[in-house]
Amino acid sequence: MPVYICPHCKNPIYDDDALLCLYCGESLRRPVGFFGKLRYPRPAVIIAFLALIILLSFMALVIF
Ligand SMILES: [Zn+2]
Repeated sequence: MPVYICPHCKNPIYDDDALLCLYCGESLRRPVGFFGKLRYPRPAVIIAFLALIILLSFMALVIF
């Protein structure tokens, strides 16, 4: 079970689903929404995938 350290008070948060710090009440800046729910693909993977598509489309433009 991953332990999340609060960025404000440095206390460990053991509840993986907690959105607010149990100690200081500050919002835990963890990824939420589409990418947070998926946890994969990561942003780096998406950027590499987009770069590959752009490269392929550019090559197709040159060839045809
Ligand atoms: Zn805190």
